[in-house]
Amino acid sequence: MAVLRVENLRKGFASPTGHIDVLRGVTLTVEPQEFVAVVGESGSGKSTLLQIIGTLEPADDGDVLFEGQSIFGLSPRAQARMRNERIGFVYQAHHLIPELTALENVMLPLAIRGLAPAEALSRARELLSRLHMAARESHVPGKLSGGEAQRVAVARALVGRPKLLLADEPTGNLDEATALDVFAAMRELCAEEGAAVVMVTHSRTLAQSSDRTLHLKGGIIY
Ligand code: ADP
Ligand code: MG
Repeated sequence: MAVLRVENLRKGFASPTGHIDVLRGVTLTVEPQEFVAVVGESGSGKSTLLQIIGTLEPADDGDVLFEGQSIFGLSPRAQARMRNERIGFVYQAHHLIPELTALENVMLPLAIRGLAPAEALSRARELLSRLHMAARESHVPGKLSGGEAQRVAVARALVGRPKLLLADEPTGNLDEATALDVFAAMRELCAEEGAAVVMVTHSRTLAQSSDRTLHLKGGIIY
């Protein structure tokens, strides 16, 4: 079964100049463990699409099925639980909590889930180590380089074994070499962990290195 199915998704916003249709019937399918890139001009609705898939924003029409189940019918509580247990998020900015160490940041989703601290600790350590960040685990985000902070954000997104990772320009703030480096690490870890990925990117190189590229233009996916 597809991990993600988006059917005829529509979304518009009120703007000072009138209503704008951002998504005008988006349909797509992502199979388990597939790595899909989404490209499109700035303002084409890529972030809006990811926010809706991630249950962080409502749609106007259409449906999003996660492993065959519509997410729009779920209660807010069930949606929050789904985000914690089955979806990982990585953004352009790392959004790590500045007061917490790298290790504590990665443990957080598991703590929220109620996992025993010892188990959360060993799982978080394992992921940081697989991302070659073991030596940085007690650093706070302010003491990490941009690439290192994104590795920690990737570890945090994958620590709970999600089926789907939503990545919105995850390497957009990094120089080209570091971007490739973080992308490769993210891709490898997702493959090992069995997570499918929908990644928004402006990099042609990264899109070409994905399994499939979707183009968002005029509110439609090509
Ligand atoms: P992208 O990520 O492709 O750059 P976005 O999804 O962020 O595009 O935005 C698509 C369009 O929707 C833009 O015109 C943006 O201004 C508009 N938009 C996004 N979010 C909102 C919002 N909360 N309220 C009003 N307009 C919005
Ligand atoms: Mg965006």
